[in-house]
Amino acid sequence: LSPVPSDIEISRGQTPKAVDVLAKEIGLLADEIEIYGKSKAKVRLSVLERLKNQADGKYVLVAGITPTPLGEGKSTVTIGLVQALTAHLNVNSFACLRQPSQGPTFGVKGGAAGGGYAQVIPMEEFNLHLTGDIHAITAANNLLAAAIDTRILHENTQTDKALYNRLVPLVNGVREFSEIQLARLKKLGINKTDPSTLTEEEVSKFARLDINPSTITWQRVLDTNDRFLRKITIGQGNTEKGYSRQAQFDITVASEIMAVLALTDSLADMKARLGRMVVASDKSGQPVTADDLGVTGALTVLMKDAIKPNLMQTLEGTPVFVHAGPFANIAHGNSSVLADKIALKLVGEEGFVVTEAGFGADIGMEKFFNIKCRASGLVPNVVVLVATVRALKMHGGGPSVSAHIKFRYVKTELNGCCNLQKQIQIAQLFGVPVVVALNVFKTDTRAEVDLVCELAKRAGAFDAVPCYHWSVGGKGSVDLARAVREAASKRSRFQFLYDVQVRSIVDKIRTIAQAVYGAKDIELSPEAQAKIDRYTQQGFGNLPICMAKTHLSLSHQPDKKGVPRDFILPISDVRASIGAGFIYPLVGTMSTMPGLPTRPCFYDIDLDTKTEQVKGLF
Ligand code: ADP
Repeated sequence: LSPVPSDIEISRGQTPKAVDVLAKEIGLLADEIEIYGKSKAKVRLSVLERLKNQADGKYVLVAGITPTPLGEGKSTVTIGLVQALTAHLNVNSFACLRQPSQGPTFGVKGGAAGGGYAQVIPMEEFNLHLTGDIHAITAANNLLAAAIDTRILHENTQTDKALYNRLVPLVNGVREFSEIQLARLKKLGINKTDPSTLTEEEVSKFARLDINPSTITWQRVLDTNDRFLRKITIGQGNTEKGYSRQAQFDITVASEIMAVLALTDSLADMKARLGRMVVASDKSGQPVTADDLGVTGALTVLMKDAIKPNLMQTLEGTPVFVHAGPFANIAHGNSSVLADKIALKLVGEEGFVVTEAGFGADIGMEKFFNIKCRASGLVPNVVVLVATVRALKMHGGGPSVSAHIKFRYVKTELNGCCNLQKQIQIAQLFGVPVVVALNVFKTDTRAEVDLVCELAKRAGAFDAVPCYHWSVGGKGSVDLARAVREAASKRSRFQFLYDVQVRSIVDKIRTIAQAVYGAKDIELSPEAQAKIDRYTQQGFGNLPICMAKTHLSLSHQPDKKGVPRDFILPISDVRASIGAGFIYPLVGTMSTMPGLPTRPCFYDIDLDTKTEQVKGLF
């Protein structure tokens, strides 16, 4: 239709097929799905065992250039591409997207179901609670946070013996260690299984975690852009007197448990990762974990359904997995390994799985390769790099948010194309062929589109094609689908950027800063240096790196567009996500809890109480 209706009108104009029908179409058995409502289902991990001998399909990553704050259409391109592959070229395909966070949905950016005629439907279910995975993560995260502070309080108010007696359960009148307690004893070097045989010294060693409160790195989380929780004081009630300390909330989707969900490949592995999560150090400098706090089992119970990918569909009835969270700036920002693995089996050897990495290729894609592919062992065949004329104009000196910027094209685009060229080069560092998808807006001219595609090819892209999925659906991305199919037939020479084992933490951070962002060097704050020393000494120096950096520039300064040069990247702090399996440096003033703008999206969101229809989501 012209003009193209709003996203929510388009979404509502199409009735989704029943999810059990979709599941059957893509080869899932009835007992492999758990249906939530009419159009969503969780898929059980048992399907991986059933299909273990099935060869994987082709693996395609959608990344982007440095975006404007509105986003340049990666989700939209992802959906357009699978619609084109399946509904127009008759090739099995699956899209793997991330579940949107309530932060952007009610804040600046809106939802993340795609847009126009390339969407996941029903978009309001996709954008709101889905099947509750993010809520489960919030619950698990905050249970662990409560366990830490409460444990400190109890250890300070009880004798060793009283603590021990309370911690070790009585079974039929006899004290027995739980499985997790036996593991803790082993870690402490106490080779005993009978609680009555522990010496006094062993009792106090076992009962006391001796957490050093100033080393607590585990924060509380909430999936709302609430800047007033960036720094808080906890423990101000009369009953917690003497235990108040400074703490903070992070947004749920940037939490370690979200990363664990995204990177795990089975229930047993998730449990092990949750148990390994380090929350603080003890007074002798040793790491304290969720296992030490005895909370791993409860966390796994809270997360047992969240681990199953959520099945939905595009406007053209093709399958989509929605799993794990966004935010490639302050998290790793990729959809889950499990969703990708299941999808790769379901599409079959000739099929395609198109998975999305957040924001620009410098962050989302770099983390996809160095963190996610390292965890999954999967090798990508093609990178699709999404660009828009509006963002290139911004990089060439234009304003950052207007969708209708009219400049004389030649100068601004020619200048701004340096960002596209740099992002192509970054993808090439990993040895994977790049297809540039120019997401065309109705304000773009033919000359602009031709110029960008030509420059992309000159910069080394395997191909560069304009895409019109937003205004016409899958048929507007058939050229992209053909280009991707062609690129995927070439051999991928995929390689990691750095060796995790050999390089030190500092060296790995510097490699990313220089080779990917184009920095001259890095500068560590004393706090960052102290944390790196601590993590190295605790034996965590051999993990990959997950940088928390602005998505609005290749550098740490959001207003530096194009390809900034000669900058020194400041590392202000470093955290360790041991369960997820990465070291997490914070670049510059990066905050892990976003804020709301003056006029947030929530102003437009409403419910028609007669029809129960949601209005104003986009
Ligand atoms: P990203 O995934 O890169 O953040 P999205 O795919 O979510 O970007 O798109 C961001 C917003 O821009 C969405 O509201 C979408 O509807 C809109 N959009 C995307 N492509 C187009 C287009 N070609 N024309 C008009 N609006 C578009």
